[in-house]
Amino acid sequence: MAKKTIADVDVAGKTVLMRVDFNVPLDESGRITDDRRIREALPSLESVLQRGGRLILMSHLGRPKGSGYEAEFSLKPVAERLKELLDGPVHFAADTIGDDANKKAAALQDSETLLLENLRFDSREEANGADFAQALAAPADIYCNDAFGTCHRKHASMVGVPQAMGGKPKVSGFLLAKEIKYLSEVIENPAPPFVAIMGGKKVSDKIKAIRKILASCDQVLIGGAMAYTFSLAQGGAVGKSYVVEKDVPLAKELLEEGEGKLVLPLDSHCGDSFSSDCNKQVVPAGKIPDDYEGLDIGPETAKQYAGIIKSAKTIIWNGPMGVFEMPPFDEGTKAVAQAVADSSATSVIGGGDSAAAIEQLGFSDKVTHVSTGGGASLQMLEGEKFLAVELLDDA
Ligand code: AMP
Repeated sequence: MAKKTIADVDVAGKTVLMRVDFNVPLDESGRITDDRRIREALPSLESVLQRGGRLILMSHLGRPKGSGYEAEFSLKPVAERLKELLDGPVHFAADTIGDDANKKAAALQDSETLLLENLRFDSREEANGADFAQALAAPADIYCNDAFGTCHRKHASMVGVPQAMGGKPKVSGFLLAKEIKYLSEVIENPAPPFVAIMGGKKVSDKIKAIRKILASCDQVLIGGAMAYTFSLAQGGAVGKSYVVEKDVPLAKELLEEGEGKLVLPLDSHCGDSFSSDCNKQVVPAGKIPDDYEGLDIGPETAKQYAGIIKSAKTIIWNGPMGVFEMPPFDEGTKAVAQAVADSSATSVIGGGDSAAAIEQLGFSDKVTHVSTGGGASLQMLEGEKFLAVELLDDA
């Protein structure tokens, strides 16, 4: 169900409380090393400010203990960056529901921005404390959620605050709206042939998603370390490859359920140790020598997968094909990324490492959508409904 967006509400002279994802990487001196998350939020922020709204922003950053201020997780550097990116005044509150936030929220003028300090300095954020949520919601006329990556969490700013808003408008920001549009399109209405590419480490992490996708897709291409657990389930020799023994029964079940749809690697690029300069060899799947480990899909697999991807009309991709952080074991992931980029299919990249691979290779513009939330997008593929989204007003 589509949700109202910030563009659908009249914000002039109103206080908009917006949950954003400013969980940006900082170096030791507190400098932001990648401000993409801030820049990506700008359209929602500007939509409020240009129409004379008063904007209160709230976010988490990192994993503080939840027992008060910790300098390394302060959002202060984000406020400084916002001052450079936004036209109007940007204020920063040293707390979230304390005196400083209350005073600055009350003094906020039209087209001005107030960024609150890290929500997770208070343990009631993750615990969804009702009093905390109520205090956050108090100054707001309108609630806006633009933090897709946290939508699978029932935290105060995601769930408690919209609940505390009562009948006041609760809308989605543009980033969240985009995530939901593309992910629901491929989940609910994929144009065939629909090809899913699943990689990464553990079968158990992705079993629910694979199971759900098997029902609607034409083929699921398996790569990454996960492939060796499947190979073991088929009685193959996997040498020293990363396998999760307890996932073998799950892999067996999926092999049965996915008969004809589940595509496993034909060959494997192996090394005799987990390093770039190890001795390497390419061997057929299921025939890995005892002293070697599979670190990437092999060239035959990359060719086969690229061919399948080429004929797809809908593609979703979650998880790398190998240890892509460690060349040359990035070749399989690169080949798949290239095939997805070359394809004219609707392609959705499910966050995390596959999104990083697509970005590193400069292919972000060549795919339909790169999700900003690895965990959240995986849960959507699993068919989860997010309370944080359900609480927003229907369009
Ligand atoms: P996940 O978080 O489950 O998507 O897994 C991503 C991680 O899996 C990345 O850090 C990869 O380096 C790692 N990975 C992928 N393939 C392999 C492999 N064959 N052996 C060990 N690690 C792998």
